[in-house]
Amino acid sequence: MNVKHIFITGGVVSSLGKGITAAALALLLEKRGYRVAMQKLDPYFNVDPGTMNPYQHGEVFVTADGAETDLDLGHYERIAGIDCTKESNFTSGKIYSNVIARERAGGYLGGTVQVIPHITDEIKAAMRSLHRPDVDIAITEIGGTAGDIESLPFLEAARQFRLEAGRNNALFLHLTLVPYIRAAGELKTKPSQHSVAVLRGIGITPDLLVCRTEMPLEEEHLRKLALFCNLPRECVIEERDVRNTIHEVPLELAAQKLDEKTLELLNLEVLPLDLDSYRAWLDDILHPTAQCTVAVVGKYVRCQDAYKSVYEALHHAGFAHHARIKIRPIDAEDFETGDPAQLLKDVDAMVIPGGFGNRGVAGKIIAAGYARKHALPCLGICLGMQCMVIEFARTELGWHDANSTEFDPETAHPVIDLMDDQRNTSAKGGTMRLGGYVCRLDPASRCAALYGGSEVVERHRHRYEFNPVFRTQLEEAGLRIAGTTPDGKLAEIVEPRNSNAYYIGCQFHPEFRSRPRQPHPLFDGLIAAALKNQQQGE
Ligand code: GLN
Repeated sequence: MNVKHIFITGGVVSSLGKGITAAALALLLEKRGYRVAMQKLDPYFNVDPGTMNPYQHGEVFVTADGAETDLDLGHYERIAGIDCTKESNFTSGKIYSNVIARERAGGYLGGTVQVIPHITDEIKAAMRSLHRPDVDIAITEIGGTAGDIESLPFLEAARQFRLEAGRNNALFLHLTLVPYIRAAGELKTKPSQHSVAVLRGIGITPDLLVCRTEMPLEEEHLRKLALFCNLPRECVIEERDVRNTIHEVPLELAAQKLDEKTLELLNLEVLPLDLDSYRAWLDDILHPTAQCTVAVVGKYVRCQDAYKSVYEALHHAGFAHHARIKIRPIDAEDFETGDPAQLLKDVDAMVIPGGFGNRGVAGKIIAAGYARKHALPCLGICLGMQCMVIEFARTELGWHDANSTEFDPETAHPVIDLMDDQRNTSAKGGTMRLGGYVCRLDPASRCAALYGGSEVVERHRHRYEFNPVFRTQLEEAGLRIAGTTPDGKLAEIVEPRNSNAYYIGCQFHPEFRSRPRQPHPLFDGLIAAALKNQQQGE
């Protein structure tokens, strides 16, 4: 069977949740027996988001094969259960740099290199890169909003793609906003009509219109949209704000037969759909019986997307324990001046997430020390783990200058240091230790018990590492190296040896592997420890 293609575009405003809608549709198609691959095309000129500030872009999601990508890929992996790859995210920067590199190599044989056909051909090749033998349907989400100058080459490439693939082999789903004007007490369809008109102006007529709205749409609105947008009424779908969790979205879309309509338009058999177990799970997670508060001590706490996967992983662990997780983001810098006991009042567990640069590091070290001393369950991720090691060295070995050379290149105790293969790297983009690596666990460790195995594969994104020069002294002072690379050389997980408290630092990012129905063992263990402490405190 040839691979069918779905293009998802957005209109009126950004932040409509295209990624969530795309992932929800993918989940439904998968549940009907189709194998789906997903991709996001981003119109900006960074080659990937790896070099971007989280305030600009939110979290950088790392795939198993080591791509630094858009956070929508996190939705694809978590909601639809799809494993993304390097082919799952292309930016304008990547497309243009490929074309320019080919031009420099003489690949265009003296021709003039232009947006059409050269850039659009490169984009179509990116779209086709999802056509693997194990894929029935490929979903491509086009970033940006219809009418943006930046996304025009992507839309043009999608238009050409559909023309070449044929009517029943590719379709366009347009996600739009139907705003509610409070003063008038009315929902307005005009912006959606306009955004469809913009698409039509560039030769794309959406086959499906999905309308984001905070209020229920009346039949009259849906008919009006269908008429003005040149669509059968059943191809206009309402996607209202969900009450509790994004995991309700697939059910809302299924109730309006979005997946059935999609399959019909693609000339694919509408195979049966069984959502009973999904519904039961959703019902379960919507009725928690416990609650706990988790502090996330980071430096981008005012941006709700900067630690997206960490927050999601905490909720997944909560689901497994029937616990509602209240996340309390705390600015790490607050620990430099404030009282930790006060800042962490009523907190049941702590996560110290990853990060780059000096700001907030002193606060993270104080927070790590407080958690270790007071047996507050604590998970340190990447930079968080590095701060745990620094704190341990300073407190237990009295090395007051212990630090990472990222923050103090001159320290006599560089317990965290640049990895060997990073020393001659000056380019910033895509040069870190990235993606999945095998980690071997010490069978006597708490981690091995949590994982229930001896080897795991976890995703990395860092330049610095635990410095093996100080390993013996730190081990003798009571730090267990609970996980290493298979050759035993790099320390990947640390935990104190003589402690019953949950206190784990990992050099990798467990949050990227957490799934709603399969919480990550390290997050699961953190929430279990938090709930146990609550019971003991009662
Ligand atoms: N800045 C640290 C490093 O590069 C930690 C990176 C991270 O937390 N992702 O090693």
